[in-house]
Formats: sequence, C-alpha cells, structure tokens
Amino acid sequence: MTFHHTPHPSPTTADRLQEILANPGFGAHFTDHTSVIDWTSEGGWGNARVEPYGPITLDPAAAVLHYAQEIFEGMKAYRHADGGIYTFRPLENAKRLNRSAVRMALPELPEGLFIESLEELVQTDKDWVPDGDGEALYLRPFMFASEAFLGVRAAREVSYRVIASPAGNYFGGELKPVRIWVSRDYIRAAPGGTGAAKTGGNYAGSLAAQQQATAKGCDQVLFLDPMRENAIEELGGMNVFLVTADNTLITPALTGTILEGITRASVIQLAKDRGMEVQERLVTLEEWDAGITDGSITEAFACGTAAVITPIGELLDGERSIASAGTGEVTLSIREELLGIQTGTVEDRHGWMHRL
Ligand code: PMP
Repeated sequence: MTFHHTPHPSPTTADRLQEILANPGFGAHFTDHTSVIDWTSEGGWGNARVEPYGPITLDPAAAVLHYAQEIFEGMKAYRHADGGIYTFRPLENAKRLNRSAVRMALPELPEGLFIESLEELVQTDKDWVPDGDGEALYLRPFMFASEAFLGVRAAREVSYRVIASPAGNYFGGELKPVRIWVSRDYIRAAPGGTGAAKTGGNYAGSLAAQQQATAKGCDQVLFLDPMRENAIEELGGMNVFLVTADNTLITPALTGTILEGITRASVIQLAKDRGMEVQERLVTLEEWDAGITDGSITEAFACGTAAVITPIGELLDGERSIASAGTGEVTLSIREELLGIQTGTVEDRHGWMHRL
C-alpha cells in the first residue's frame, strides 16, 4: 500500500531534539509524525498515511471510549554502528497484534502492512532514534474502535496508528534489581478472559495493584493464577524467569492467561542455544521461596521489551519476603547477549533483526 506523506509544518527544532535525546526518559516525548491506516467493515484497510503528530479528533460516542475495544504493541528500534535502524522480531509483534485483534473482535492487519507502517514512520523520523547505551526509539502501534455508536458490538470503523518515543533505560540509570509486590487483592486474567491479548483493559485493571505495590515501596506487581493456588503468572508488563543452581531456566507455561512475550521466547531460545534446560511449567511461590532458602534457585529475573531483562531482588508477599541473590551471572549474561543482538554488537544468528 502506498503511504501518503504530509510533512509536519513546524517540526521539532534541532536544538530541542538534542535536548530531548540527551535525556529521553520513557514515553515522555513523541516524534514529529504518526503512521495511520483506516479500516471500515465495507472497504477494509485503506488511506495509509504519515501525518504530523498531534491530537486525534474523536466523536464522543467512539466505541473505544466506552467499551475499550483497543489493542496495542510495543517494540524498539535501535541505531546500529553501520548507520542502519533495526527492530527486533517485528513479525512476531505483527502476529501478536493479530492474535489480540481476533480476541477483541478487531480486524486483522496484514503483516506486511504492519511492517510498512513502522518503516514509513521510522524513516520519516529517523533523527529521533537515540544511539546512547541501551537507548532506542520505542514504537507503539495501536488499533481502536473509532466508530460513533453506543450499541455493544464490534465496531465497523477502526483506526490503526503508530507513534514513536525515544527511550532511555526503563528503570532509569544503572541496572538495579527490582522489588516486586505479590498481588493478593487483584487478579490480572482468568481462563477465557483477555490475559493473552495486549489490550488496554488489562493494563487499566492492573493499576490499582500497581498503586498498592508503589505504596509498599515496590517497582512492579506479580500476578497469580486465579485457578491454581499460589502459581505465579507474570508481572504487569513483563514475564518472569527463575534460574536454578543446576543451570535450568523455569518460567510459567503459556496457559492462555499470560501475555506471550517476545523477549520471553527469545530468552528461551538463547538459553537452549547455550545447552541450558528450559522448563515451561507451573511455578508456585512456595517453590520459589523454598528454592531460594535451600539454594536450588539462584536468580530471578523479569523480561520484556521496555526493560529487556531486569534482575528481581526481592518478592514481597504480604509480610513474607523472598529475597533473590541480586544480580546473578546468568541473568547478566543472557541480558548482555540479547542486548548485544538488539544493538548490533553480537552476531544475529537467528536473523531476528529487521532493517527498517
Ligand atoms: N507481559 C505483559 C503483561 C506485557 O505487557 C509485556 C510487554 N509487552 C510482556 C509480558 C513482555 O512482552 P514482550 O517481551 O513482547 O515485550
């Protein structure tokens, strides 16, 4: 599909851009343009364009504002030493967006069009891709029901967009182990629900738990499986791994209530490449606690696009504290390899990087 380009009439000045890139933070600044593709039930996808970044005009009756028919993706583009800009496994994001679309009764976007929408935006705003250590341009594709209609049914008019935001280190500064709050009052997902879809409501529903976590001095929330006592699922925005003393990785199996992380899948692949055993299965808090106590579990980490891989230093379950060893060797080494592939300093033997 040909994207029609409307350049921003007053793009960010070079000085201001330098200022932003010197301290990008996370999700605070947005590039000058946005990719947009419209969909109607009669005409399908059309009117692909790159237009100036700015507020969206929406009818107050737009279905997304009432029934949250919305999905999104998250990925990063890195500037490599060869001057090229690369994203990590974008086809996996395209596929996941479409799995989310099916669950939320939104139209599937052809994978090629998804990739094109990223290419067109990143090429237009390529000066916004930072090149500092661990920095990237965060890409946020999203799709929502724009039809003005208050009946509860799948919308017949939908908008797909991509916005981009320069990103520094997610937790700010050096790699420090995070503290995790175990959510006992709230669950994230249940069988048959929307847990495996990347849809806004899952995140809205996690905020009250996140507020509790913050009040307890924790960085993130660990959600439990509502069907199986004390079985761990995932964090609000990351998947979880345990490392054992005999060099095995353990992570909760994908049972339909966990988001299928692309970082998770990549960590599993890299671990297998090293000859490590990887177990995707049920993991309980009791196993985690006992393993730390008897030394059979040596490290714990969380992984996702935003923070890549972050060591888990402590788990707080009410009054019970399960402390991990801090930043373990296996965590650090897998993190270095994955970041190296993403930033272009380690050979991309699986062909994961896609030049935009
Ligand atoms: N779980 C949840 C709930 C998430 O929001 C994310 C971030 N997309 C992840 C896990 C990690 O997924 P990925 O590695 O694809 O970023």
